[in-house]
Amino acid sequence: TSTQQANIGVTGLAVMGRNLARNLARHGYTVALHNRTEARTKALVQEFGDEGTFLPAATAEEFVASLERPRRVVVMVKAGAPTDAVIEEFAALLEPGDIIVDGGNAHFLDTRRREAALRERGLHFVGTGVSGGEEGALNGPSIMPGGSAESWEALRPLFESIAAQVDGEPCTTHIGPDGAGHFVKMVHNGIEYADMQLIAEAYDLLRHAGGFEPAELAEIFRAWNTGRLDSYLIEITADILAHTDPETGRPFVDVVLDQAEQKGTGRWTVQTALDLGSPVNGIAEAVFARSTSGHADLRAAARALPGPSREPVADRAAFAEKVEKALYASKIVAYAQGFNEIQAGSAEYGWDIDLGATAAIWRGGCIIRAAFLDRIRAAYAADPATPTLLATPDFAEALADAQDAWREVVAVAVREGIPAPGFAAALAYYDSLRADRLPAALIQSQRDYFGAHTYRRVDKDGSFHTLWADDP
Ligand code: NAP
Repeated sequence: TSTQQANIGVTGLAVMGRNLARNLARHGYTVALHNRTEARTKALVQEFGDEGTFLPAATAEEFVASLERPRRVVVMVKAGAPTDAVIEEFAALLEPGDIIVDGGNAHFLDTRRREAALRERGLHFVGTGVSGGEEGALNGPSIMPGGSAESWEALRPLFESIAAQVDGEPCTTHIGPDGAGHFVKMVHNGIEYADMQLIAEAYDLLRHAGGFEPAELAEIFRAWNTGRLDSYLIEITADILAHTDPETGRPFVDVVLDQAEQKGTGRWTVQTALDLGSPVNGIAEAVFARSTSGHADLRAAARALPGPSREPVADRAAFAEKVEKALYASKIVAYAQGFNEIQAGSAEYGWDIDLGATAAIWRGGCIIRAAFLDRIRAAYAADPATPTLLATPDFAEALADAQDAWREVVAVAVREGIPAPGFAAALAYYDSLRADRLPAALIQSQRDYFGAHTYRRVDKDGSFHTLWADDP
């Protein structure tokens, strides 16, 4: 009888699970393997068995029996009903104190439900965001675990060794109880949608108002990537714009159908923000922009509608500098909104999330990884309770410097008939927050007029109602 015990087990060995298992094994952990269809388990051992120590199991029982205690079971299966089925299958075989990690993209409310049900049974359930796709899972993801403090202590050494490392710090931390990890991963993805949309708008404006060709744009993005916009997304944008389609010889970006798809985490971010009353208009515009792009029927029906006669900008180089400023300012807004949503979720569910630590673990492994996140961490370190990143000194200064250019770029977009919903929404948010008076006073008056909803006054406390119908 074999006495070798696995430190951790992974069930669900599609791309994500397989790569996480390999990452763990490469870091010296003995990894038990299981998959519904055993062929995947065998294939992993056959192809990558020499990367470390794997204990393949044909059945769930055999898998559980091979794990040291407390047992650590990582579930990496399709989100939704399959995850529930697999959790139930393993929960029935585990003992109090054991830990189930769900590394899939679960909705945080599902994670809360699962955590509460398993806690009743004495099991730890750790809903964990895993960012960076399959490449990240293999070479170092950003890992965002929720769940109990006790389960974090049991998982910490493993997660810290397999996570991406930035400046000697692992890109993982205990986000907070129950659904906190999946919540933060969700907002990460919402921010990612916004970041991608803003980059796409910058490209579109430079190309169609600035008159730059894709190859020239690749150079502009490469240059930006050496400055404050330095990030993975800007880097891959430069690569994409430099790429020529081998079949047609045309710029690659011109042969791709202009309909962006989505898997749902961006939508969840906005739905959740609506429920929390957290204004994330920049992220919402990014989700709606993808949705708009996909409506071929609407677009075909509207294609003949008139636009303005175009006149390209006079000074292309100066325009490119202004677009850089508009992009940076809009990016600050999108991230500020995302962090405010995390703050709102943390308050609503009692998670006590450390916003600076969250920014820090997104610096590596994630799609949104960027030097920029260091600035966010620094802003929260200086003032953990700041109501908005926009008002923190570093970002406030950048916004002040950018705002004229930002307005001009949005004006050019409007004048030229080029949609820039992300830039415009971010600017509207900026102007809303800094406004001395908002027209909300008129809206509240209307509400009082038609619905007797009352209003508060600027000059004294209390709620008031005006008898509108009786007015002359
Ligand atoms: P996936 O395509 O989402 O799921 C395939 C895996 O789920 C296979 O191992 C499959 O087993 C198993 N499975 C499906 N239904 C099952 C059921 N009813 N019972 C037992 N096992 C079942 O795999 P993935 O792309 O590796 O993603 C895994 C999770 O990570 C998902 O929740 C995904 O959202 C999340 N995620 C993915 C990425 C990414 O870039 N792909 C990034 C971050 C997070 P069989 O082999 O038997 O079919």
